[in-house]
Amino acid sequence: MKILLLLLILLSHSAFSQVARPKTPYWGLVDEIERTGLVAYQKYDWTDKSLQKLLKEVPILNNLVSEIGRRKIVYKMGGENAGKTGFATVLKNGDLYIQVYYAKHLKNIDVALTLGHELVHAIHIDSGLFDDWKKNTRSNQKEYAECMSETGAYTWSGIYASDTRTREWIASQIKNYQECTKRLLR
Ligand SMILES: [Zn+2]
Repeated sequence: MKILLLLLILLSHSAFSQVARPKTPYWGLVDEIERTGLVAYQKYDWTDKSLQKLLKEVPILNNLVSEIGRRKIVYKMGGENAGKTGFATVLKNGDLYIQVYYAKHLKNIDVALTLGHELVHAIHIDSGLFDDWKKNTRSNQKEYAECMSETGAYTWSGIYASDTRTREWIASQIKNYQECTKRLLR
């Protein structure tokens, strides 16, 4: 009887985990930022010390950094680009490059979310996934890979962004990029 009960629990659990959406730990990033001594909703100070704190002491971000193999990541904090908060690419020498553009209103949480999003792009490049995606289509290869990478990066953002408006905006971005991948595969 006990075994049957256990079996039922296991079965119902696996059935449940297949249909249920994972509970999104959107509070986690705020919590982890504040454990470093930074206040999540205070303006970012654009110092190297704060950047290192976010990258090394916030486990959610540090886990992404450790996903990168042997490649070096060059971070550039600043520069302006209206309408864009971050950028990730690979440099000619093979190093990965992540830029967070300056904006006066950016808070610690915003910079952490941007770094995480761009790190997901960097992981796609470093792991070879980005190149595999390019091979999936005959035309528009790069655009397809970009849409796949954005879908992944915004999915990450959607898990960790905590305010409702940002989450709604992220959901619409995911929808757009998913439509883009479907359109290009047709
Ligand atoms: Zn992106």
